[in-house]
Amino acid sequence: MRLFGRNKETDAATSEALARTRRSWFGRLGEVFRGSDVTEELWESLEEVLIGADTGVQTTIDILEQVRARHPSTSEEVRTLLREALVVVLEAPAATPRGQLWGRPDDEAWPAAPALALIVGVNGTGKTTAIGRLAHLHQQQGLKVLAAAGDTYRAAAIEQLQAWGKQIGIEVIAHQQGADAAAVAFDAIEAARARGADLVLVDTAGRLHNKQNLMDELSKVRRVIERGLGRPPDEVLLVLDATTGQNGLSQARAFTESVEVTGVMLTKLDGTARGGIVFAIARDLGLPVRFIGTGQGPGDIAPFEPRAFVESLLGEPATAEA
Ligand code: GDP
Repeated sequence: MRLFGRNKETDAATSEALARTRRSWFGRLGEVFRGSDVTEELWESLEEVLIGADTGVQTTIDILEQVRARHPSTSEEVRTLLREALVVVLEAPAATPRGQLWGRPDDEAWPAAPALALIVGVNGTGKTTAIGRLAHLHQQQGLKVLAAAGDTYRAAAIEQLQAWGKQIGIEVIAHQQGADAAAVAFDAIEAARARGADLVLVDTAGRLHNKQNLMDELSKVRRVIERGLGRPPDEVLLVLDATTGQNGLSQARAFTESVEVTGVMLTKLDGTARGGIVFAIARDLGLPVRFIGTGQGPGDIAPFEPRAFVESLLGEPATAEA
């Protein structure tokens, strides 16, 4: 069962979310690729654009070296090779299968219901909004979704998730502020079994008095989920704010060390000109991007499709344009 695939709508949403990145950075390449010669200026421009869009210096150097090593003789060939090299970077994390929901091959069945995704990330990255949108997206696919208000550190987080629940019509399992987050997750699993829910999305705290406390709590939530479910969470999705760029990456490392993150939802891609961060996530963290946040509305989420993403930045292959 594959719930999401590339289609016209996801392509359009991806392209819209990348409008700023294209305007500020990749759009410049149109001019550079106009001439057919492969000049030093071409390579310099490519480097400038990739680094400028937050692709990361080493990632940029590696990608351009790969392209150069193929000795392209026209700028169009450079563009084709670059397109392929970028897709390879984005698809590479999928070679190490992680996660049972969004990362599995098309014909593989979902895990036994309820499937569970633990959603982690720093406050302000758009975690609650992401859960609301993910719930909505899966609901549209015919799944019965339930959310767990596991950020018990902030009353506002519980209320915000409950408000989302009302808006999109899903049940939210919540305890009082200050309650044990792991107990909320455990109750949500029981409730999901009782109600025949297909998918449980568990919110978590994004800030405690210190980082160690937060990581200890997340590890505990994870352990308790494993006990309740009889297996580890099917996915651990890290919500990252694209506008925080390279800083976001160091945040991400802290999470990947404590809870085994299986994928990333990159929010606010529409709010940045530096969408190249996606390549750095794939290469430096080795994590697949699963979803992107494409705007402010409840439906502003798109499954991440590496090829659609790269084509939106560099233009489609010539054959597709013909
Ligand atoms: P949390 O503290 O991590 O739970 O963050 P919230 O879910 O409350 O989101 C923080 C802010 O980011 C809100 O104003 C959201 O509307 C905004 N936001 C979240 N995702 C996106 C996105 O993909 N695009 C844009 N433009 N804004 C977003």
